[in-house]
Amino acid sequence: MKLNEDQLTLQKWVHDFAADVVRPAGEEWDEKEEFPYPIVEQAKEIGLYSWEFMAEAMMNDPTGLSMPIAIEELFWGDAGIGMAIMGSGLAAAGIASSATPEQMMEWVPQCYEDEKGNLALGAFCASEPDAGSDVGGYRTSAKYDEAKDEWVLNGTKAWITNGGISNIHVVVAVIDPELGSKGHASFVVPPNTKGLSQGQKYKKHGIRASHTAEVVLDDVRVPGRCLLGGKEKLDERLARVRRGEKGNSQAAMQTFEATRPAVGAQALGVARAAFEYSLQYAKEREAFGRPIIMNQSIAFMLADMATEIEASRNLIWRAAWLGKNKGFVNAEGSMAKLKAGRTATWVTERAIQILGGYGYTREYPVERWHRDAKIHDIFEGTEQIQQLVISRAISGLRIE
Ligand SMILES: Cc1cc2nc3c(=O)[nH]c(=O)nc-3n(C[C@H](O)[C@H](O)[C@H](O)COP(=O)(O)OP(=O)(O)OC[C@H]3O[C@@H](n4cnc5c(N)ncnc54)[C@H](O)[C@@H]3O)c2cc1C
Repeated sequence: MKLNEDQLTLQKWVHDFAADVVRPAGEEWDEKEEFPYPIVEQAKEIGLYSWEFMAEAMMNDPTGLSMPIAIEELFWGDAGIGMAIMGSGLAAAGIASSATPEQMMEWVPQCYEDEKGNLALGAFCASEPDAGSDVGGYRTSAKYDEAKDEWVLNGTKAWITNGGISNIHVVVAVIDPELGSKGHASFVVPPNTKGLSQGQKYKKHGIRASHTAEVVLDDVRVPGRCLLGGKEKLDERLARVRRGEKGNSQAAMQTFEATRPAVGAQALGVARAAFEYSLQYAKEREAFGRPIIMNQSIAFMLADMATEIEASRNLIWRAAWLGKNKGFVNAEGSMAKLKAGRTATWVTERAIQILGGYGYTREYPVERWHRDAKIHDIFEGTEQIQQLVISRAISGLRIE
């Protein structure tokens, strides 16, 4: 597919930032296992970390390709830092999926910048210690205090990107436990709200520059206007669910479905980085008196890597185009994420093989990229959850 002028400009802009700023910093922030504030500040300075960029990339490109193009380049630079830059986008997407226009205008910009113009972060808090894939098993509760027009949130959220260090936390909570995931609603917890705190910060296998932590909600009181979509709409939706009407899923829970092509693009960036690096290495490294690429076993490995990457990109771009133009990408989004996640894990492992002993050491980046790649088989729906979505779509059956 031929990209248009705007898309090529965007691709070059993000690539240059990834090559000049992100990639050189990747090793340092992986070692530190800290949120890379100085790098995210630089992304903010050039406008890459901003709600305006997200809105422009998501709304103004009729092909839907801007976001996957930008994400692939950024994650080609480094996935941990890429995640630090893109993590707030999940909170923004969680708000956009359920909010009224007024709520969007109030809360989405605050995921990127506070009222003084300083860097701000957003977190989307859905998963819980006892329920990740099984969204119907969430326990975090939201109770309405009518006298004060306030909602009271209690519970613990697990593995939350930017959890506890964010200005805006978007929290999915249970209103009616009888209704499973359809009995949920989403709330914005504004900055400095009492009762919200960070629990344990996780030490991770990969994407270690990205902050991942528990979020504890202990009698967190938020004003009625923090319920995304508003109370009237919530009451109407719950009444329809209780009458047994089909559809009526909670919109924020569909956030993961909508963002799956973007997560596929993250994986694609990591895979491409490892492929390019190992291709170059294979041309330069000599064994038995010739470059190792002159052995078919190495050259064919690289041929397969290139093919898997190309196939992943095609699925991602197709899902992104469908999402923009048809509005529904359930199976296609899952196929794109499934394929790209597996590709990244496999390609980065092959890259280590091609680099041999050097590939296994921290002197070379491919072992880090291999650690970074694996998350794409897990978050925003595991491999098996994608297979579940796809198998239901292709069979029309409620596969369990
Ligand atoms: C680094 C990181 C960042 C994250 N960021 C966020 C975030 O910002 N916000 C957020 O809300 N969550 C986040 N998560 C959580 C993530 O989405 C969950 O970890 C993921 O959905 C899987 O849930 P789980 O860990 O509870 O695994 P489980 O659901 O317990 O699954 C364990 C295993 O069982 C399999 N399995 C489960 N159910 C089925 C089934 N029905 N059929 C077949 N196999 C099944 C799974 O595929 C998996 O292999 C993050 C996680 C990580 C590691």
